Amino acid sequence: MAAARLGYRTIVLDPAGPCPAAQVCNSHIVGAYNDPAALDRLANQCDVVTYEFENVPAEAAERLATATTLHPNQQSLAVSQDRLVEKEFLRSVGIDTAPFRPVSSVLEIQEAVDSFGGEAIIKTRRFGYDGKGQVRVRGSAPDDVVDSMGSSALIAEGVVEFVAEISVIAARSIAGDISCFEPARNTHRDGILVSSSVPADVSRDVVGRALDHARGLLTALDYVGVLGLELFVMADGTVLANEFAPRVHNSGHWTELACDVDQFEQHIRAITGHPLGDPEAVACEMINLIGSDVDRVPELVADGGWRVHMYGKAEVRPGRKMGHATRRVDKR
Ligand code: AMP
Repeated sequence: MAAARLGYRTIVLDPAGPCPAAQVCNSHIVGAYNDPAALDRLANQCDVVTYEFENVPAEAAERLATATTLHPNQQSLAVSQDRLVEKEFLRSVGIDTAPFRPVSSVLEIQEAVDSFGGEAIIKTRRFGYDGKGQVRVRGSAPDDVVDSMGSSALIAEGVVEFVAEISVIAARSIAGDISCFEPARNTHRDGILVSSSVPADVSRDVVGRALDHARGLLTALDYVGVLGLELFVMADGTVLANEFAPRVHNSGHWTELACDVDQFEQHIRAITGHPLGDPEAVACEMINLIGSDVDRVPELVADGGWRVHMYGKAEVRPGRKMGHATRRVDKR
Protein backbone atom coordinates (compact mmCIF):
# COMPACT_ATOMS: atom_id res chain seq x y z
CA MET A 1 0.00 0.00 0.00
CA ALA A 2 2.86 2.37 0.81
CA ALA A 3 4.62 1.44 -2.44
CA ALA A 4 1.46 2.06 -4.47
CA ARG A 5 1.11 5.52 -2.93
CA LEU A 6 4.62 6.35 -4.13
CA GLY A 7 3.72 5.15 -7.63
CA TYR A 8 5.35 1.72 -7.61
CA ARG A 9 3.80 -1.48 -8.86
CA THR A 10 4.28 -4.52 -6.65
CA ILE A 11 4.39 -8.27 -7.18
CA VAL A 12 4.05 -10.59 -4.21
CA LEU A 13 5.43 -14.13 -3.93
CA ASP A 14 3.51 -16.13 -1.34
CA PRO A 15 2.70 -19.85 -1.17
CA ALA A 16 -0.91 -19.23 -0.13
CA GLY A 17 -3.49 -18.40 -2.81
CA PRO A 18 -5.66 -15.96 -0.81
CA CYS A 19 -2.81 -14.29 1.10
CA PRO A 20 -3.34 -10.84 2.64
CA ALA A 21 -0.74 -9.06 0.48
CA ALA A 22 -2.35 -10.37 -2.74
CA GLN A 23 -5.40 -8.24 -1.93
CA VAL A 24 -3.42 -5.01 -2.29
CA CYS A 25 -0.70 -5.66 -4.88
CA ASN A 26 -0.61 -5.66 -8.69
CA SER A 27 0.12 -9.33 -9.14
CA HIS A 28 0.68 -12.45 -7.08
CA ILE A 29 3.00 -15.36 -7.85
CA VAL A 30 1.72 -18.39 -5.93
CA GLY A 31 4.79 -20.46 -5.12
CA ALA A 32 6.95 -21.79 -2.30
CA TYR A 33 9.66 -19.44 -1.04
CA ASN A 34 12.27 -21.94 -2.26
CA ASP A 35 10.67 -22.63 -5.69
CA PRO A 36 13.43 -21.68 -8.20
CA ALA A 37 10.98 -21.01 -11.06
CA ALA A 38 8.80 -18.76 -8.90
CA LEU A 39 11.85 -16.90 -7.57
CA ASP A 40 13.19 -16.38 -11.11
CA ARG A 41 9.82 -15.06 -12.29
CA LEU A 42 9.81 -12.61 -9.40
CA ALA A 43 13.41 -11.51 -9.95
CA ASN A 44 12.89 -11.04 -13.71
CA GLN A 45 9.96 -8.70 -13.17
CA CYS A 46 11.27 -6.65 -10.26
CA ASP A 47 13.83 -3.85 -9.98
CA VAL A 48 14.08 -4.44 -6.25
CA VAL A 49 12.94 -7.29 -4.03
CA THR A 50 12.31 -7.09 -0.30
CA TYR A 51 10.80 -9.46 2.27
CA GLU A 52 8.57 -9.01 5.29
CA PHE A 53 9.04 -12.46 6.78
CA GLU A 54 12.38 -13.63 8.19
CA ASN A 55 11.86 -17.32 7.53
CA VAL A 56 12.40 -16.90 3.79
CA PRO A 57 15.12 -19.52 3.11
CA ALA A 58 18.64 -18.10 2.82
CA GLU A 59 19.04 -19.85 -0.58
CA ALA A 60 16.00 -17.99 -1.90
CA ALA A 61 17.55 -14.70 -0.84
CA GLU A 62 20.81 -15.76 -2.48
CA ARG A 63 19.06 -16.55 -5.76
CA LEU A 64 17.16 -13.24 -5.75
CA ALA A 65 20.25 -11.21 -4.85
CA THR A 66 22.13 -12.71 -7.80
CA ALA A 67 19.37 -11.91 -10.28
CA THR A 68 18.18 -8.51 -9.04
CA THR A 69 18.59 -6.07 -6.14
CA LEU A 70 17.68 -7.44 -2.71
CA HIS A 71 17.16 -5.19 0.33
CA PRO A 72 17.83 -5.86 3.19
CA ASN A 73 20.89 -7.96 2.30
CA GLN A 74 21.23 -11.72 2.82
CA GLN A 75 23.51 -11.36 5.82
CA SER A 76 20.81 -9.49 7.74
CA LEU A 77 18.33 -12.25 6.94
CA ALA A 78 20.75 -15.07 7.81
CA VAL A 79 21.81 -13.51 11.13
CA SER A 80 18.21 -12.94 12.24
CA GLN A 81 17.17 -16.49 11.33
CA ASP A 82 19.25 -18.20 13.99
CA ARG A 83 18.92 -16.99 17.59
CA LEU A 84 22.43 -18.19 18.45
CA VAL A 85 24.10 -16.45 15.49
CA GLU A 86 21.93 -13.38 16.14
CA LYS A 87 22.92 -13.07 19.81
CA GLU A 88 26.59 -13.66 19.01
CA PHE A 89 26.38 -10.97 16.32
CA LEU A 90 24.66 -8.50 18.65
CA ARG A 91 27.38 -9.01 21.26
CA SER A 92 30.14 -8.72 18.65
CA VAL A 93 28.90 -5.21 17.80
CA GLY A 94 28.71 -4.14 21.46
CA ILE A 95 25.01 -4.76 22.13
CA ASP A 96 24.48 -6.72 25.32
CA THR A 97 21.96 -9.58 25.57
CA ALA A 98 20.62 -11.98 28.19
CA PRO A 99 23.16 -14.70 29.07
CA PHE A 100 22.82 -17.54 26.56
CA ARG A 101 24.43 -20.74 25.37
CA PRO A 102 23.69 -23.35 22.71
CA VAL A 103 22.14 -26.59 24.04
CA SER A 104 21.01 -29.79 22.36
CA SER A 105 20.46 -32.37 25.16
CA VAL A 106 18.73 -32.60 28.54
CA LEU A 107 22.14 -32.68 30.20
CA GLU A 108 23.24 -29.45 28.52
CA ILE A 109 19.89 -27.83 29.33
CA GLN A 110 20.29 -28.80 32.98
CA GLU A 111 23.81 -27.36 33.06
CA ALA A 112 22.50 -24.13 31.52
CA VAL A 113 19.58 -23.89 33.99
CA ASP A 114 21.99 -24.41 36.91
CA SER A 115 24.46 -21.84 35.59
CA PHE A 116 21.68 -19.24 35.06
CA GLY A 117 20.52 -19.47 38.69
CA GLY A 118 17.98 -22.30 38.48
CA GLU A 119 15.80 -21.02 35.63
CA ALA A 120 16.18 -20.66 31.86
CA ILE A 121 14.13 -20.10 28.75
CA ILE A 122 14.80 -22.74 26.11
CA LYS A 123 14.12 -21.60 22.55
CA THR A 124 14.48 -23.22 19.16
CA ARG A 125 17.32 -21.53 17.30
CA ARG A 126 15.24 -21.25 14.13
CA PHE A 127 11.60 -20.68 13.11
CA GLY A 128 10.30 -19.47 16.48
CA TYR A 129 7.85 -16.55 16.62
CA ASP A 130 5.15 -15.15 18.89
CA GLY A 131 6.38 -17.28 21.80
CA LYS A 132 6.21 -20.50 19.75
CA GLY A 133 9.19 -22.82 20.11
CA GLN A 134 9.90 -21.74 23.68
CA VAL A 135 9.67 -23.32 27.09
CA ARG A 136 10.65 -22.11 30.57
CA VAL A 137 12.54 -24.61 32.72
CA ARG A 138 12.76 -24.14 36.51
CA GLY A 139 14.81 -26.44 38.70
CA SER A 140 15.21 -29.76 36.95
CA ALA A 141 14.74 -30.15 33.21
CA PRO A 142 12.01 -32.66 32.21
CA ASP A 143 13.35 -35.73 30.35
CA ASP A 144 11.24 -34.97 27.28
CA VAL A 145 12.20 -31.30 27.04
CA VAL A 146 14.21 -31.69 23.82
CA ASP A 147 11.52 -33.84 22.14
CA SER A 148 8.85 -31.28 23.07
CA MET A 149 10.73 -28.56 21.17
CA GLY A 150 10.59 -30.33 17.79
CA SER A 151 14.29 -29.63 17.19
CA SER A 152 17.54 -30.23 19.03
CA ALA A 153 19.12 -27.03 17.72
CA LEU A 154 18.30 -25.00 20.81
CA ILE A 155 19.49 -22.02 22.81
CA ALA A 156 19.15 -21.58 26.56
CA GLU A 157 18.77 -18.03 27.87
CA GLY A 158 18.92 -16.74 31.41
CA VAL A 159 15.64 -15.14 32.52
CA VAL A 160 15.97 -11.38 32.44
CA GLU A 161 14.16 -9.41 35.18
CA PHE A 162 13.36 -6.44 33.00
CA VAL A 163 11.30 -3.43 34.08
CA ALA A 164 10.01 -2.75 30.55
CA GLU A 165 10.14 -4.07 27.01
CA ILE A 166 10.71 -1.53 24.28
CA SER A 167 11.53 -1.65 20.59
CA VAL A 168 13.10 0.66 18.08
CA ILE A 169 11.98 0.80 14.47
CA ALA A 170 14.94 2.11 12.53
CA ALA A 171 15.67 2.70 8.87
CA ARG A 172 18.84 3.02 6.83
CA SER A 173 18.87 4.35 3.28
CA ILE A 174 20.99 3.31 0.31
CA ALA A 175 23.05 6.46 0.93
CA GLY A 176 23.73 5.24 4.50
CA ASP A 177 21.52 7.77 6.31
CA ILE A 178 19.76 6.48 9.41
CA SER A 179 16.41 7.52 10.85
CA CYS A 180 14.89 6.00 13.99
CA PHE A 181 11.34 6.27 15.24
CA GLU A 182 11.23 6.84 19.00
CA PRO A 183 11.15 3.66 21.11
CA ALA A 184 7.73 2.14 21.80
CA ARG A 185 6.81 0.37 25.02
CA ASN A 186 5.50 -3.12 24.36
CA THR A 187 3.40 -5.54 26.37
CA HIS A 188 3.18 -9.26 25.67
CA ARG A 189 0.86 -12.08 26.67
CA ASP A 190 2.04 -15.68 26.23
CA GLY A 191 4.98 -14.37 24.18
CA ILE A 192 2.65 -12.52 21.75
CA LEU A 193 2.75 -8.74 21.36
CA VAL A 194 -0.47 -7.26 22.75
CA SER A 195 0.16 -3.53 22.62
CA SER A 196 2.74 -0.87 21.74
CA SER A 197 2.64 2.74 22.80
CA VAL A 198 4.59 5.95 22.46
CA PRO A 199 6.03 7.70 24.32
CA ALA A 200 7.59 4.66 25.95
CA ASP A 201 7.83 6.40 29.33
CA VAL A 202 11.51 5.58 29.84
CA SER A 203 14.36 7.95 30.71
CA ARG A 204 16.27 9.98 28.11
CA ASP A 205 19.33 7.83 28.83
CA VAL A 206 17.39 4.67 28.01
CA VAL A 207 16.10 6.24 24.79
CA GLY A 208 19.65 7.27 23.91
CA ARG A 209 21.04 3.77 24.49
CA ALA A 210 18.23 2.13 22.54
CA LEU A 211 18.73 4.42 19.53
CA ASP A 212 22.52 4.00 19.66
CA HIS A 213 22.08 0.22 19.57
CA ALA A 214 19.71 0.43 16.59
CA ARG A 215 22.09 2.72 14.69
CA GLY A 216 25.07 0.49 15.47
CA LEU A 217 23.23 -2.62 14.31
CA LEU A 218 22.08 -1.08 11.01
CA THR A 219 25.59 0.10 10.24
CA ALA A 220 27.23 -3.21 11.20
CA LEU A 221 24.83 -5.10 8.89
CA ASP A 222 25.26 -2.56 6.04
CA TYR A 223 21.48 -2.63 6.19
CA VAL A 224 19.05 -1.02 3.74
CA GLY A 225 15.39 -0.83 4.79
CA VAL A 226 13.46 -0.87 8.07
CA LEU A 227 14.43 -3.07 11.01
CA GLY A 228 12.75 -3.73 14.37
CA LEU A 229 15.02 -4.14 17.41
CA GLU A 230 13.41 -5.56 20.58
CA LEU A 231 15.02 -4.56 23.87
CA PHE A 232 14.68 -5.28 27.57
CA VAL A 233 15.09 -2.28 29.90
CA MET A 234 16.72 -3.14 33.22
CA ALA A 235 16.14 -1.40 36.57
CA ASP A 236 19.56 0.31 36.39
CA GLY A 237 18.74 1.80 32.97
CA THR A 238 20.87 -0.61 30.96
CA VAL A 239 19.32 -2.05 27.84
CA LEU A 240 19.67 -5.63 26.56
CA ALA A 241 18.74 -6.76 23.06
CA ASN A 242 16.31 -9.65 22.75
CA GLU A 243 16.15 -9.99 18.98
CA PHE A 244 15.81 -8.04 15.77
CA ALA A 245 13.54 -8.51 12.78
CA PRO A 246 14.87 -7.55 9.32
CA ARG A 247 11.55 -6.04 8.25
CA VAL A 248 8.75 -3.73 9.23
CA HIS A 249 7.69 -4.82 12.69
CA ASN A 250 4.41 -5.30 14.55
CA SER A 251 5.63 -2.99 17.32
CA GLY A 252 5.93 -0.22 14.69
CA HIS A 253 2.37 -0.31 13.41
CA TRP A 254 1.55 2.74 15.59
CA THR A 255 3.58 4.83 13.11
CA GLU A 256 0.65 4.51 10.66
CA LEU A 257 -1.32 6.95 12.79
CA ALA A 258 1.37 8.82 14.71
CA CYS A 259 3.76 9.88 11.93
CA ASP A 260 3.58 11.63 8.55
CA VAL A 261 5.83 8.91 7.14
CA ASP A 262 5.09 5.52 8.69
CA GLN A 263 7.41 2.49 8.91
CA PHE A 264 5.98 1.05 5.69
CA GLU A 265 6.66 4.14 3.60
CA GLN A 266 10.03 4.51 5.33
CA HIS A 267 10.93 0.99 4.18
CA ILE A 268 9.84 1.66 0.60
CA ARG A 269 11.72 4.97 0.61
CA ALA A 270 14.87 3.22 1.84
CA ILE A 271 14.87 0.34 -0.66
CA THR A 272 13.97 2.51 -3.66
CA GLY A 273 16.70 5.08 -3.03
CA HIS A 274 14.60 7.99 -1.73
CA PRO A 275 15.63 10.09 1.26
CA LEU A 276 14.11 8.90 4.54
CA GLY A 277 11.07 10.66 5.98
CA ASP A 278 10.69 12.54 9.26
CA PRO A 279 10.14 10.11 12.19
CA GLU A 280 8.49 12.76 14.43
CA ALA A 281 5.49 11.20 16.22
CA VAL A 282 2.48 12.19 18.28
CA ALA A 283 1.54 10.09 21.33
CA CYS A 284 -0.26 6.96 20.22
CA GLU A 285 -1.14 3.41 21.19
CA MET A 286 -1.62 0.27 19.13
CA ILE A 287 -3.44 -2.88 20.17
CA ASN A 288 -3.23 -6.15 18.30
CA LEU A 289 -6.46 -7.91 17.38
CA ILE A 290 -5.61 -11.52 18.15
CA GLY A 291 -7.91 -14.49 17.48
CA SER A 292 -11.43 -13.75 18.72
CA ASP A 293 -10.53 -10.06 19.25
CA VAL A 294 -11.96 -9.70 15.72
CA ASP A 295 -15.35 -9.61 17.45
CA ARG A 296 -14.37 -6.15 18.74
CA VAL A 297 -13.97 -4.70 15.25
CA PRO A 298 -17.52 -3.25 14.92
CA GLU A 299 -17.20 -1.56 18.32
CA LEU A 300 -13.72 -0.16 17.52
CA VAL A 301 -14.81 1.12 14.12
CA ALA A 302 -17.91 2.71 15.64
CA ASP A 303 -15.74 4.45 18.25
CA GLY A 304 -14.27 7.24 16.10
CA GLY A 305 -11.02 7.31 18.13
CA TRP A 306 -9.67 4.02 16.82
CA ARG A 307 -8.32 3.35 13.35
CA VAL A 308 -8.71 -0.33 12.49
CA HIS A 309 -6.41 -2.19 10.10
CA MET A 310 -7.49 -5.77 9.32
CA TYR A 311 -5.13 -8.04 7.36
CA GLY A 312 -7.74 -9.95 5.36
CA LYS A 313 -6.73 -13.35 6.74
CA ALA A 314 -9.29 -15.95 5.69
CA GLU A 315 -9.52 -17.83 8.97
CA VAL A 316 -9.63 -16.78 12.63
CA ARG A 317 -7.46 -18.98 14.88
CA PRO A 318 -6.61 -18.62 18.58
CA GLY A 319 -3.35 -16.66 18.92
CA ARG A 320 -3.41 -15.55 15.27
CA LYS A 321 -2.81 -11.86 14.58
CA MET A 322 -5.85 -10.78 12.54
CA GLY A 323 -5.32 -7.02 12.54
CA HIS A 324 -4.55 -4.09 14.79
CA ALA A 325 -6.05 -0.80 15.89
CA THR A 326 -4.38 2.51 16.69
CA ARG A 327 -5.50 5.63 18.49
CA ARG A 328 -3.97 8.91 19.52
CA VAL A 329 -3.53 9.47 23.23
CA ASP A 330 -3.26 12.76 25.04
CA LYS A 331 0.12 12.34 26.73
CA ARG A 332 2.61 15.00 25.66
P1 AMP B 1 10.96 -13.87 21.79
O1 AMP B 1 10.23 -14.88 20.99
O2 AMP B 1 12.40 -14.17 22.01
O3 AMP B 1 10.74 -12.46 21.25
O4 AMP B 1 10.27 -13.86 23.25
C1 AMP B 1 8.92 -13.49 23.44
C2 AMP B 1 8.75 -12.81 24.80
O5 AMP B 1 9.18 -13.69 25.85
C3 AMP B 1 9.62 -11.56 24.99
O6 AMP B 1 9.03 -10.41 24.43
C4 AMP B 1 9.70 -11.50 26.51
O7 AMP B 1 8.49 -11.00 27.06
C5 AMP B 1 9.83 -12.96 26.89
N1 AMP B 1 11.27 -13.35 26.94
C6 AMP B 1 11.99 -13.85 25.92
N2 AMP B 1 13.27 -14.08 26.29
C7 AMP B 1 13.36 -13.72 27.59
C8 AMP B 1 14.43 -13.74 28.57
N3 AMP B 1 15.65 -14.18 28.28
N4 AMP B 1 14.13 -13.31 29.82
C9 AMP B 1 12.88 -12.88 30.15
N5 AMP B 1 11.83 -12.84 29.28
C10 AMP B 1 12.06 -13.26 28.02
